[in-house]
Amino acid sequence: MWIGIDDTDSSEGMCTTFLVPEIIYSLGHDLIGFPRLVRLNPNIPWKTRGNAAVAIRIGKGYGKSRKVGEFRGKEIISYEKGKEIDDVGLLEKVMNIVERYAVLEDKKTSPGIIISKKKLDESIYWRAVRSVVYLKDIKIHIKDARYFGYKGGRGLIGAAAAIAWKPREKTYELIAYLPEDRWLHERFVDEDSVIEMDKNVKTTFENYDYRNRHVAIKPETRTPVLFGIRGKVPEDLERARLMVRSDPYIGYIIFETNQGTDDHLVRKKISEISPYDSVIVSGRVDSYPRVISGGHVIFRISDDSGSIDCAAYEKTREFREIVKSLVPGDMVTVFGSVKKYPGTINIEKMRVDSLADIYEKEIPRCPSCGRKMESAGNGKGYRCRRCGTFVKEIKYVKVEREIEKGFYQVPVIARRHLSKPIEFFQE
Ligand SMILES: [Zn+2]
Repeated sequence: MWIGIDDTDSSEGMCTTFLVPEIIYSLGHDLIGFPRLVRLNPNIPWKTRGNAAVAIRIGKGYGKSRKVGEFRGKEIISYEKGKEIDDVGLLEKVMNIVERYAVLEDKKTSPGIIISKKKLDESIYWRAVRSVVYLKDIKIHIKDARYFGYKGGRGLIGAAAAIAWKPREKTYELIAYLPEDRWLHERFVDEDSVIEMDKNVKTTFENYDYRNRHVAIKPETRTPVLFGIRGKVPEDLERARLMVRSDPYIGYIIFETNQGTDDHLVRKKISEISPYDSVIVSGRVDSYPRVISGGHVIFRISDDSGSIDCAAYEKTREFREIVKSLVPGDMVTVFGSVKKYPGTINIEKMRVDSLADIYEKEIPRCPSCGRKMESAGNGKGYRCRRCGTFVKEIKYVKVEREIEKGFYQVPVIARRHLSKPIEFFQE
């Protein structure tokens, strides 16, 4: 039996992922496979904070088992396989837990719960991560399921997508949770211990932003989450967790996720870009990058179908310096997203495919006395101030570029959940 839940986040005080260990703990059924944390289209304006939905499969477990977490003093065990169970009151039990924790008065919250015997159609996931899905499109797919939507039930979309996800690629995240009375308080995660963990557990990623001295495993907002460690190998996440010094927590659980997979990106021509798309676009740089108010850096690219602005926003910090060294004629592939009016691609990462040759005038030495010559005026050649020798010919030399071919990405502090780190491409 699949349980999918979405949109119980609030701006402060709640995070949908917390419901997963709570439901597993309260229901007493076996967990089959890993719980799932599925990020959806990051460009949708009506999304909740992290735009994450969750799903679990429960049943009577058999086959290989493993520990995937601990919660309120109990181990969370996951089984490789499971037999179907019949729990007629399951929807009501899950609703009770959701109602206990979801901040229903939060305007942006509209939770949805789906209980489905069947796995839902994979296409729902791809649409929810890449485009815009409406509730009516989902209702057809869940007609055989039991479900409940609060306040319009927009969360049913994410709930269905989390069940429907069939990983093409995946990563893991171990999330540790604070006791309820600490959710709205300051929390402590020791910076040095995170750096040590980051250096020791190589299969983890996006733990720490060295340049900006930012502990990325600790959420910015006050939520049940104390920290979340991302990685490629679940066993290594256990080891990483033990290295992190922090406030005490009531439990943790390892999710399989679509984070760091680039699942949201679709390769497109510029003319094909639609509102809320996330795209991979290759083109030629058409303009020198310019800094606009707010510190954002903008440049224009074109392909054979059209042209579009690309932006490295202020929050991408040192990434802007890389972007600034582009010149017209450079060929780049931009990975990023557009908003409602698809006039600008917000860059997540970029690959410089080829660099234009740029030249500058070489100031010659005097052929008679060896002194550095001076310009005799625009386009008029050079004159030696000491002996009066005149040279008409203007020579150009190739300038060493400040940027090299290859991948560049925004710093960890500005990274999107779904973006695949460039380190993954080089492995
Ligand atoms: Zn001279």
